[in-house]
Amino acid sequence: MSTITEVAARTTIISSDPATGEKLAELACATPEEVHEAVRRARQAQPSWQALSVAERVAVLKRFQRKLSERRDQVATLISREAGKPTAEAMTTEILVVLDAAEFCIRTAHSFLRDEPLPHGNLAMKTKRGRLVREPYGVIGIIAPWNYPFSLPATETLAALVVGNAVVLKPSELTPLVALELQKLLVEAGLHPDLIQVVIGAGPVGGALLESEIDKLVFTGSVATGKRVAEIAARRLLPAVLELGGKDPMIVLEDADLDVASSGAVWGSMVNAGQTCLSIERCYVQRSVYEKFLGLCREKIEKLRVGEGLGSEVEMGPLIQERQVHTVEEHVTDAVTRGARLLAGGRRMSELGLNFYAPTLLADVTHEMRVMSEETFGPVLPVASFDADDDAVALANDSEFGLAASVWTGNRKRGEAIAARIKAGTVMINDAISGFGIAEAPHGGFKQSGIGRTHGKLGLDEMVQVKYVDVDLLPRMPKVWWYGYGIGFQRQMSSFMDMLFASGIGARIKGALGAVGALRRSNRI
Ligand code: NAD
Repeated sequence: MSTITEVAARTTIISSDPATGEKLAELACATPEEVHEAVRRARQAQPSWQALSVAERVAVLKRFQRKLSERRDQVATLISREAGKPTAEAMTTEILVVLDAAEFCIRTAHSFLRDEPLPHGNLAMKTKRGRLVREPYGVIGIIAPWNYPFSLPATETLAALVVGNAVVLKPSELTPLVALELQKLLVEAGLHPDLIQVVIGAGPVGGALLESEIDKLVFTGSVATGKRVAEIAARRLLPAVLELGGKDPMIVLEDADLDVASSGAVWGSMVNAGQTCLSIERCYVQRSVYEKFLGLCREKIEKLRVGEGLGSEVEMGPLIQERQVHTVEEHVTDAVTRGARLLAGGRRMSELGLNFYAPTLLADVTHEMRVMSEETFGPVLPVASFDADDDAVALANDSEFGLAASVWTGNRKRGEAIAARIKAGTVMINDAISGFGIAEAPHGGFKQSGIGRTHGKLGLDEMVQVKYVDVDLLPRMPKVWWYGYGIGFQRQMSSFMDMLFASGIGARIKGALGAVGALRRSNRI
C-alpha cells in the first residue's frame, strides 16, 4: 500500500469534459512498480481462470452483457461527458458494438476452443493422430486510445478473457473514467478483480506495461507511437497486435445513388467529429457527378447540429483537445493556401465552448496537400474528382495507410472489381465504418495501418497460442527413418518417394515393392 505522502507526490492526470473543460476527476498515475505488481497479480490469478470450463467463463460474459444492457444510459452518458461525443453515438458505436462483441464471444467460444483434428497427408505419418490445441497466452496488455474509449478496449478485453487470459489495461490518459467503468462492470459480473486491472496514466505508464511481464500486447493508437511500441516489443520478442491510424478513401462512381452516397460521406467523415480511425478522410468522385455530389454534401453538412455531446439533439460534439483542433486548422489552412475550394466550415466554433470546429467541406484537393496525405482526425471532408476507375484505384492506393476504404456504386460487379484492387484491411461497398460494428468481421490494417487483427475469429486467434499435439498409435514400433542408414536404406527411401510421387502407375508399383524392405530393416539402431 502507498502512503499518503507518496500518493501526494505522484503524477496525476485530470479527466475533463472536452466541451467545457470542467474537471471530472483527478486520478493518480500508476508507478512502474504498481504496473509490474498489477501484471504479477494478473499472472497469479490467470491459471485458475484458464482452468474453468468454457461455460463458466462464458457465464461471466453473459452477466457482463446483461449489466451493460441494463446500465446503457449511464455508461453512454459517461462516454459523452469524457469523450465529448453525442450520446446517440455512444449508444450505437460503443455500447451496441460491445453488446454484440460479447454475443459473438459467448456464441463462438466453445467451438473456437474445441481441439481441431489435423489429418496427415504423408503416408509415413498415417500411424499418428494430430490435433491443434488453443491455449491462452497468460496476461494480455492492452493499450488503448481515447476516441472509442469503451468499444475498443472492451471488445479486445472480452476476446482475451473468454479464451482464458487475464488483462491489464492502460487506457488513454484522456478517458480513464470510461475504462474504470468497464472494469467495474466486469467485476460486478463476477470476474476476479486481478483478471481485469486498469493502470492509469499517460505514455510512461504504457511504457512500463510494455516492459512488464505481459505475454502479448494489443496496442491501438497512432502510427508514431505504434512504431515506438513495436521497437520495444521487438527487442523483447513480445508478440504485439498494432491497430494504427488510417486515411480511408471513399470512391464515388457516377452510377452511385448520390443522395445516399453524400449522406454516407457526411456521416462517415464527421462521426465522432471525424476522430475515428475508419473515418472517410479522402473522397474521390467521378467527374460527371462531382459538382452535384459536392452540392448535396454542402447542403447536408450545413444542416448538422453541433454542440455538447450530452444534448439529445446534437449530431456532432467537440474535438477531444486543443492539439487536435490545431491539427485540423493546419490541414485546412494548408489546403486552402494550395488552392482547395472551401465550401463549408473551415473555422473554430468558439461560441459553443472549447475544442469545437465547424464541419468542413473542401473541394479540388490534391495529394500535395496535408489534408490528403496525413491523418487529419477531424470533421473535414476533402473531395477530389477522377475520370476512369483505374485513376480512382491509383488515388485510393496512393497512401502510406491501408486501414479501410469504401466504393459507392449502383453496379455491384464494378464495385467488387475496384474493391479487389484496393490495398486495405477492409473495403466496404455502399457503406463505410460499419464493418467495425460487425462482430464477426476482422478489424485491422494493411501497410502503416498496423499488424494483426482484432474482432471476429481472427481477433480470437490473436489471443491464443496454438499448440500441435501428436499421438503415435504404434508406440511399440521404431520408426523407419531412424538410425541405421546405409545404401540399402537410401534406395528404399528413394523407392518410397517413387511410390508416392512418380508419374505412371508402373513406376509407383515398382517404388512400393522397393520400399517395403525398409519396414524390415535389420541394421536399425
Ligand atoms: P496515441 O498513439 O497518442 O496513444 C495511444 C495510447 O498509447 C494511449 O493510451 C497513450 O497513452 C499510449 N502511449 C503513448 N506513448 C506511449 C509509449 N511511448 N509507450 C506506450 N504507450 C504509449 O494515440 P491517440 O491519440 O490516443 O489515438 C488516436 C490514434 O489512434 C489515431 O491515429 C487513430 O487512427 C488511432 N486509432 C486506431 C484504431 C484502429 O483500430 N486501427 C482505432 C482507434 C484509433
